[in-house]
Formats: sequence, structure tokens, C-alpha cells
Amino acid sequence: MSVEFFLGGSETFKESYELAIIGGGPAGLTAALYAARSMLDHVLIEKNPIPGGQILNTVLVENYPGFAEPVSGMELMQRFQAQAEKFGAKIINAGVQRLTIEDGKFRIITDEGETSARAVIISSGASPKLMNIEGEDKFIGKGISFCATCDGALYKDKVVAVIGGGDAAVEEALYLTKFASKVFIVHRRDKLRATKILQERAFNNPKIEFVWSHVPKKVLGEQVVEGLEVESRVDGSTKVLNVSGIFVYIGLIPNTDFIAIDGLGRDDKGFIITDAEMRTNISGLFAAGDVRSKLLRQVSTAVGDGANAAFAAEKYLHGEG
Ligand code: NAP
Repeated sequence: MSVEFFLGGSETFKESYELAIIGGGPAGLTAALYAARSMLDHVLIEKNPIPGGQILNTVLVENYPGFAEPVSGMELMQRFQAQAEKFGAKIINAGVQRLTIEDGKFRIITDEGETSARAVIISSGASPKLMNIEGEDKFIGKGISFCATCDGALYKDKVVAVIGGGDAAVEEALYLTKFASKVFIVHRRDKLRATKILQERAFNNPKIEFVWSHVPKKVLGEQVVEGLEVESRVDGSTKVLNVSGIFVYIGLIPNTDFIAIDGLGRDDKGFIITDAEMRTNISGLFAAGDVRSKLLRQVSTAVGDGANAAFAAEKYLHGEG
């Protein structure tokens, strides 16, 4: 497909907009598509030169409806962006540093300037959670990775460990078997959380060995990762896995550091609470996609959130919601 990504550059912010959308993953790009089609005066602010968010790091998306054959995260997001821009979506490449409310308007401070909006959709996504164990800081980028798609090929014929038992851990472990000679999946329980079809594939893959009911304790090595000490949650015993790579998939934390709005409702993990129309408890403020408190974080659910948020924001702006 010959779609070009927007690569930032000449666009600058207007002084104010009706609607600002913060974050250009599947939720934000969908919100921008709907905002553009509703002819709202809007801007989508995305910090990375290439919009798309976390799904850009996924080699193959198999569960987005309409694609019987797997599609790469990159191509899927190119299509999202092309469709949104075809209808007039305005995307500006900038990192949002602060979101506040001043004089009844949302004020948005970015590394490329300031703007304001009467309504805001937060679709800033989530980031991988850290293990918080000894050696982790030292070896990030030197054997510890959060992106198998980016770094997997570095581990050709090597032994690696994947930490976690959810969809991300199992999916990325399967991907890593293309390169690695062996992949340990270290999970803290004796049952996976991942979707059954992924579980079946992992159980049937001879390169994958499960280390059940263990948690990572310490990363070992001098200059680069040489091993991972894990501890049994059954009897407290420890053992060392001789791995040269550790891929961490133990869940997500919401990207909300830039939000400086008192009283915004969040759940116990910091994800933003909304109602079914994506409204937060702050008037004019909406949240969509992985950043919001929800059961299932997928492209398909982010798309629904983005559409709902844009529609609800439009009603709010027109005094109907
Ligand atoms: P997740 O579903 O929250 O799973 C996190 C896994 O890490 C769980 O197995 C959890 O164990 C384990 N864990 C959490 N904290 C831990 C700790 N401190 N030490 C050791 N293990 C820990 O996260 P995810 O897999 O990153 O997925 C995030 C969201 O994206 C989910 O909604 C998922 O469905 C979605 N996703 C979907 C796909 C797909 O559809 N193909 C692919 C990737 C991600 P417990 O099971 O014991 O809680």
C-alpha cells in the first residue's frame, strides 16, 4: 500500500480549537476521523512522528475484524491515518507536557507550543510496566527489552525469557521462537491469562518451556544480561535461567503524567474512569482507548472508544450532552 505517514513539520497550533485529541493510536485516530467527518474544529496531537501507538510494535494483528489475513500493526495504522486525513483530520506532531483547566477551557502545553480547547479526548495509551527487580535498570537496552518486534532478531539461536502470562507475553514469546533457540515463559501462576488460541499455540511450540509459579528476582550479568534468577511462589526456592535476553510483558501503566487536573476519576491502577459515552467526571473531558479503565485493551475496543468519544464530545460542544 502506498500511503505515506505524516512526518511532522510545518503545522503549528492555532490559539484554540473546539476539540483537542491527545494521542494518535487507534482510539485517537478514530476520534479524529469522526471529528473530521463532523466538521469539528479539531487537532490530534501525537508525540511520535509516526502515529499509531503501541500497535506499531506488533508484527501481525490477527483479531481486527475485516482482515481475514493478518495485517501488520504498521500497515493497519497507515490505513487508519490515511482514512482520517482523507476526511480532513488535522494531526500535529508534538509531545503534550501539561493539560490543565484555565478560565473554563482546557489549556494544552506541548514541546511545540501551546493551545487550548473547549473539549479534550485523552487517548494517550499505556506503557509497559517494569519488573522493579535488582539489575533491571542496568540492563534495559542491554538484554532487557519491552519489544520483541524491535529486538527479537538480536537473539538468533540464543535463549531468552519472556515474563508474564497475558496476551502480550504469549504472543511475543511465539514471535521470538522465530529467532531464539529456546524461549522460557516465566509466569507467576500455573494458568495463563492469554486467549486460548494463543495458549494452544504456545503449548504446541517445542521451543517454548514454561516456568510456572515463578517470579523474576534478579537480573544477572556483567555488561549484558547473562541470566535471570527466578523465585518459586510455591516454596520460595530460587533457580537461575541462563538467558541472554529478557522480554517483559507484565501489563501496562496509563500514560497520564501530563494531566494536571484535580479530581479526575481514576481506578486503583491509575486508568481514567469513564461512562459508556467515554465521559470522565470532568465536564468536557473524555478518555478513549488503553488509557481508560476497561476490561479489554485491543485495537477493536479502542476504535469503538474513539468513535464514541468524538460523538459525545460533539454533543457536548453543541450543548446537547
Ligand atoms: P495483562 O493482560 O495485564 O497481563 C499481564 C501478565 O503479567 C499477567 O499474566 C500477570 O499475571 C503478569 N504480571 C503482572 N504483574 C506482574 C508482576 N509484577 N510480576 C510478574 N508477573 C506479573 O497485560 P498484557 O498481556 O500486556 O496485555 C495488556 C492488554 O493488551 C490486555 O487487554 C490484552 O488482552 C491486550 N493485548 C492483546 C493482544 C492480542 O489480542 N493479540 C496482544 C497483546 C495485548 P496474572 O495473570 O497472575 O495477573
